[in-house]
Amino acid sequence: MEQTLSIIKPDAVKKNVIGKIIDRFESNGLRIAAMKKVQLSRADAEAFYAVHKERPFFGELVEFMISGPVVVSVLEGENAVAKNRELMGATDPKEAAPGTIRADFAESIDANAVHGSDSLENAEKEIAFFFARREIL
Ligand code: GDP
Repeated sequence: MEQTLSIIKPDAVKKNVIGKIIDRFESNGLRIAAMKKVQLSRADAEAFYAVHKERPFFGELVEFMISGPVVVSVLEGENAVAKNRELMGATDPKEAAPGTIRADFAESIDANAVHGSDSLENAEKEIAFFFARREIL
């Protein structure tokens, strides 16, 4: 059993498709172990995406992530990290496989609907960034 962090990004929250995205997780063997809606501060977004600090798109990424509330959840299940990445589809929605969350709900490489941890190690760090142990059930 693994846990991974999912973020429904501001574009998808604005489009009112939180439930449709959560359904993709639940219908594919992932369970919601924790969930909350939050407005990230600039400092939150910069800290969360610190690994991308040197990338040319870092400023745009931070602006986008604070442009509205996000829904953060801990997904639990067998191979949860890889399963979530598979359900999300490629970073650029134009390259995302049909039927994936990004193919169906994302507009562009920055407004790409969802975030998902890319390794078990990062999942642990990202979950701890947002949730206390007692909030994960
Ligand atoms: P992910 O793991 O599929 O989310 O992709 P990455 O870890 O490579 O990038 C993190 C996030 O940065 C992506 O989800 C995008 O929102 C954003 N991003 C990646 N590449 C670009 C880019 O070329 N331009 C912009 N504006 N944003 C990007």
